[in-house]
Amino acid sequence: MTNGTTLVIGGGAIGTSVAYFLAKKGSDVVLLEQNQIASGATGRALGGVRNLFSHPITVELMNRNIEFFSNFSENVSDEFEFHRSGYLFLLRNEEIRSVWEERMDLYQRLGVNAEFITPLEVEERIDCIDVSDFEGALLGKDCGFIDPHLTTQAFANAAKAEGADVKTGTPVEDVLVSNGRVTGVETSIGRFDADNVVNATGAWGNELSSKVGVELPVDFVQHGYLVLDTLGIRDSPLIIDESRDTNFRAEANGETVVSLEKKPLENRVDMPRVRQEDKIRALERVSGLIPDISDLPIKSHWTGVLATTPDGHPIVGETDVDGLYVACGFSGHGLMMSPTVGMAVSDAIVTGSTDVIDFDQLGPDRFDGPERLTPEAKTTSGTQTNE
Ligand SMILES: Cc1cc2nc3c(=O)[nH]c(=O)nc-3n(C[C@H](O)[C@H](O)[C@H](O)COP(=O)(O)OP(=O)(O)OC[C@H]3O[C@@H](n4cnc5c(N)ncnc54)[C@H](O)[C@@H]3O)c2cc1C
Repeated sequence: MTNGTTLVIGGGAIGTSVAYFLAKKGSDVVLLEQNQIASGATGRALGGVRNLFSHPITVELMNRNIEFFSNFSENVSDEFEFHRSGYLFLLRNEEIRSVWEERMDLYQRLGVNAEFITPLEVEERIDCIDVSDFEGALLGKDCGFIDPHLTTQAFANAAKAEGADVKTGTPVEDVLVSNGRVTGVETSIGRFDADNVVNATGAWGNELSSKVGVELPVDFVQHGYLVLDTLGIRDSPLIIDESRDTNFRAEANGETVVSLEKKPLENRVDMPRVRQEDKIRALERVSGLIPDISDLPIKSHWTGVLATTPDGHPIVGETDVDGLYVACGFSGHGLMMSPTVGMAVSDAIVTGSTDVIDFDQLGPDRFDGPERLTPEAKTTSGTQTNE
């Protein structure tokens, strides 16, 4: 157990949350970010927050995160809004309905506020949707949206206000280890000594930790959105049609966002490319549902890189190098999980244990043994929903 200096590497949602909770607990903390706050995947997130998952670990974590986001103004900053606009998973066939029906027991046990609604009730919420081809939807009433930039800046500013030193434009070049224990890092502006180091570098996570022999099984997936003109509605639920591998919503400002197809990437790349045919395919997939959508002009698009793990769960915990923690591989859910990750990692560093996250289940060693964590499941054979 130690409570000396902690270096948090990475200024995304995860790193800033860890820095905030550490500083709030009175720890000496320095956050090192190679670019700017929220310049990685965090700045590309849609902002979705949900507790409709398949694994009890994730549902319980997300219930706690939703509670935290609901009180964010009192806890962290009042420059923040949690839009409880909901999530709507469309039930296009029996296979999809029965998967969600099986999960309802879990949701009732864990206090998740979700209900099945009819096609008519879907139409009452989004009148431009063609409901002829599905038999209803699951509505997640606890779910909604936050602004990724505001949230992350709020964590960073609150961390500073609690005494953390936040250094942007400071790439970490090496991690220093002596006798199996982390001792600091080497950066572009020199060496920093530390008792603990937290690797919160997202898609860069394995690059950094493998320098000291800690290999993380992380893959990369390109994901992004088209931004279209308005459909005449605002702040709609996220509408997810898993059988067509598409999702869309009307943002708070009225613009419509439509998901692009997810694509595996060989390497981590900073700015994946979107081709014209990708845009056309995205519109084709959603136009069966919203016939008017193909007429809307495309205003812009954005993409980013998801760091995914073999079981779809994040990697959070201490590594084989004493004092070196990792919080990476969020498989598309890092923004929404950031509060509990900050709470858990800071607890472990300051008090030696935490009841927020079970590191035995989510830690980096879990892939070595025969006991595997049940993967976070898809409801169809399509790509797992990441928002
Ligand atoms: C299109 C898209 C939509 C998404 N939608 C959602 C959503 O709706 N909800 C949700 O919860 N999640 C969503 N995600 C996923 C979410 O963005 C990530 O899971 C989350 O942002 C991960 O946060 P992070 O802090 O771990 O990583 P990042 O935000 O990538 O932060 C890592 C930081 O580390 C820095 N860094 C890397 N190497 C070094 C180094 N050597 N030295 C110093 N700094 C370094 C990087 O510059 C970066 O700023 C989406 C992602 C994409 C791409």
